[in-house]
Amino acid sequence: MAAARATTTLSVVIPMYNEEAALPALVARLRPALDGTNVSYEVVAVDDGSADRTAELLEEIRLGWSELRIVKLRRNSGHQAALTAGLHSSVGDYVASIDADLQDPPEKIPEMLELAQRDKLDIVYGVRSDRSTDSGFKRWTAGAYYWLMRRMVGKRVPSQAGDFRLLSREAVDALKSLPDQQQVYRLLVPWLGFPSGQVTYFREERVAGETKYPLSKMIRLAIDSITNFSATPLRIATWLGVLSFFGCFAMLAGTIGIYLAGHTVPGWTSLFVAMLFIGGIQLICVGLLGEYIGRIYTAVQKRPTFFIGYDSADAPQQRGAER
Ligand code: UDP
Ligand code: MG
Repeated sequence: MAAARATTTLSVVIPMYNEEAALPALVARLRPALDGTNVSYEVVAVDDGSADRTAELLEEIRLGWSELRIVKLRRNSGHQAALTAGLHSSVGDYVASIDADLQDPPEKIPEMLELAQRDKLDIVYGVRSDRSTDSGFKRWTAGAYYWLMRRMVGKRVPSQAGDFRLLSREAVDALKSLPDQQQVYRLLVPWLGFPSGQVTYFREERVAGETKYPLSKMIRLAIDSITNFSATPLRIATWLGVLSFFGCFAMLAGTIGIYLAGHTVPGWTSLFVAMLFIGGIQLICVGLLGEYIGRIYTAVQKRPTFFIGYDSADAPQQRGAER
C-alpha cells in the first residue's frame, strides 16, 4: 500500500454532510473526469458525521471504485474541519478540493492539474465567472464578505474563489504545519504566498438536496475569517471609545452653553441618547473582547477540530480491487 501511495498523483478531497441525494450524480460526473486523466488518483470522501445514508452509499460505491477512499469523522465538525481532515489524509502530489453538490464542475479538475504542472504552480483557484444561480441574498453577502477579506488579508485573496481549488503537496504541507485551530482556507491559502493561477468556471445550481450552509454557519465563517486574520476589530473598539469620548465632550459643552444662556435643559432626551450610545459602544467592545478571548481559550485548549472515526485505507483489504 505504501508503494501505491507514493505514486498517487492526484487526491480529490470532498467534504460531505448529508449528501445522499447528490452522491450518485457526483460519482457519475467525477469518475469519468478523473479516469480520463491517465494519472493515478484517489478520491478522499470525508463524511462529516452525516445522519443520512451518505456513509452506506459511499461504502457501496467503493466496492466498484477502488480509488475511492472514505474518511469518516466521528461527528459533524463543519465544512472547513472536514476539509482539514481530507487534506491531512490525502497522499497525492496534488490535492484538489471540491464540493459534493456539483456546484463546482469536476471536469475542471484535470484542467487545473494540467495548468499547475505546466506552469509549475502550487495553487490553482477555481474562480466563479458568474453567480447567477445563487440567490440574491447569497450573492450580496458573498460580495460583502470578499470585499472585507480583500481589505483585511490583502489583494491576494481572489474574489469569488471558494473552496474549489488545487494545491501542490508543498502547499498542503505548509497548510498542515499551521497551528491555526479554525482554518479558513480561502484566506489561509492566498496568505501562503505560493505561485498561483486560476481557472474560471460557471457556478451551477446544487444538483440535489439543500444547502448545508444556513445563515448561522455563514455568520460563523465570517467571524472566524475576520478574527483569524486581524486584530483590527479590537482597534475599532478603541476608536469607537475615542469617538464617543469626544462626542460626549461636545454634548457636555453644549449643555453647559445652554445652561449659561439661561435656558433650561429640555427633557431627558439628550441624556437618554447619550446613555444608549455609550452603553451600545461598551457592549460592542465587550463583545469583541469576548470573541478574541474565546479564540485564545480555544487555542490554549489545543483540541483537534475533528476526529477520524474510520479510514477505509486503514481497513483490512476490501473486497474491491487492490489499491
Ligand atoms: N459540508 C460539510 N459539513 C458541514 C456543511 C457542509 O462537509 O457541516 C459540505 C457539504 O456537504 C458540501 C460543501 O461542504 O459538499 C459545501 O456545502 P453547501 O453546498 O451546502 O454550501 P453552499 O454551496 O450552499 O455554500
Ligand atoms: Mg453548495
